[in-house]
Amino acid sequence: METHSAVLQKLRNTFRSGVTVPEKFRRSQLTQLLTLIQENEEKILGALHKDLSKPKFEAILSELEIVLNELHFALSNLRNWMQDEHVSKILATKVDECFVRREPLGVVLIIGPWNYPMHLLLLPLVGAIAAGNCVVIKPSEVTSAMEAVIAELIPKYLSPDCFTVVCGGAEETKALLKNKFDHIFYTGSQSVARSILQAAAPLLTPVTLELGGKCPCFIHERVDIIAAAHRLAWTKYFNLGQSCVAPDYVLCTKETRDLLVPALKQVLLEFYGEKPQECPDLARIVSPKHWTRIMGLLGKSKGKVVLGGESDEDSKYIAPTVLVDVPEDDSLMQEEIFGPLLPLLTVSSVDEAIDFMNNREKPLALYVFSDDSSVVNTVLKKTSSGGFCSNDGIIHMALPGLPFGGVGASGFGNYHGRWGFETFSHKRAVLLRGWALERLNGLRYPPYTDNKLSW
Ligand code: NAD
Repeated sequence: METHSAVLQKLRNTFRSGVTVPEKFRRSQLTQLLTLIQENEEKILGALHKDLSKPKFEAILSELEIVLNELHFALSNLRNWMQDEHVSKILATKVDECFVRREPLGVVLIIGPWNYPMHLLLLPLVGAIAAGNCVVIKPSEVTSAMEAVIAELIPKYLSPDCFTVVCGGAEETKALLKNKFDHIFYTGSQSVARSILQAAAPLLTPVTLELGGKCPCFIHERVDIIAAAHRLAWTKYFNLGQSCVAPDYVLCTKETRDLLVPALKQVLLEFYGEKPQECPDLARIVSPKHWTRIMGLLGKSKGKVVLGGESDEDSKYIAPTVLVDVPEDDSLMQEEIFGPLLPLLTVSSVDEAIDFMNNREKPLALYVFSDDSSVVNTVLKKTSSGGFCSNDGIIHMALPGLPFGGVGASGFGNYHGRWGFETFSHKRAVLLRGWALERLNGLRYPPYTDNKLSW
């Protein structure tokens, strides 16, 4: 078995050979990734079902289609992205060629989480390949079926000289991080992100951190409450709440809350029927450890469960749950819930909701539901978050034209579409000068006489 440093040396040698740089090579690998997904759909869906009981519809939408769209977008735009970008000149550079050249960074590391174990590993990979890098791919060990599929398929479809998969958990990742990379792209929790930064610091390795946090959703009184309940419930209970951009908690007035609870009750019945535990359209919590953590938060909560609340440890099931009368210092408000528990907190006004959100860490996404565009614009103007979406959730991340990433504690750096290509490219400042106009150049050479400044 090759050691990490031997594998990395092989990738570094490949990178230095320049093989990954031509557009033709990048295009061929992106096309191979496309083929990998198309030829192995059943295998991928099977693994996602084994790991998370992902409903087929959700898996196709959020793991397959999103990566396929990203690949098509990259293939359509690659030539354009790779062009040198000419910049405006100053008098002293009038006859020079001045441009920005996007160059690959080298050998990069992509570390993925378990909640969308294919999407969150392969979407950054699209950007890294498009930008011409060699890549070490580290899937999450928590979703072991998907980890095995990635380890099996990547070497079959992508060039093994340029792309390699390293499996394992925290210890293997720590060992991997002792090596020098040209960039680390990490998606996962804030606590592990600190270890990643510490490991990167001695080697001054640049890092992108795609983290989580508590994404708020403010629901204004001027709203179609049934439509709002549909959109809120779908975005919250998709993947059983294990989405980094899921609404973590709702802020609304007491009056809106009293309309929202029955609306959510109706919608949950429509979505998942009388016996949600038997409904195939609900995923499961990824592991007993995560199930225990979420149930611990619920057990300690001072909030009142008004919908759901049932659970089953053996099948890692937790019902879509709604809580009211949740105090600000509640267990559910201390950390990202990352599960199907939805606390509804009451505020008296838009301004109070804005203050509430601004008194906390900047979230990865922030949602506002209102018929009144001035309310939407006020919240947009007065808050900060990685992404923003009005009258829906999650959906903004499906657009390759929008950058996806956090701000503050929800992470730094971004990707998707051109933004991913940029993240994995060095923007090299180039000035090509010839030998003309040497007399003009002479104006800057010593001796620095006064008349040279007055020129
Ligand atoms: P995690 O941080 O536990 O694990 C992510 C990766 O880090 C895995 O590959 C794991 O093997 C590795 N890892 C774990 N411990 C490590 C250590 N001590 N040192 C080095 N590597 C280590 O995260 P997770 O539980 O898989 O994911 C959940 C979190 O990720 C949530 O907070 C969620 O909000 C966040 N998330 C963010 C995004 C985003 O795009 N911003 C997307 C999905 C999930």
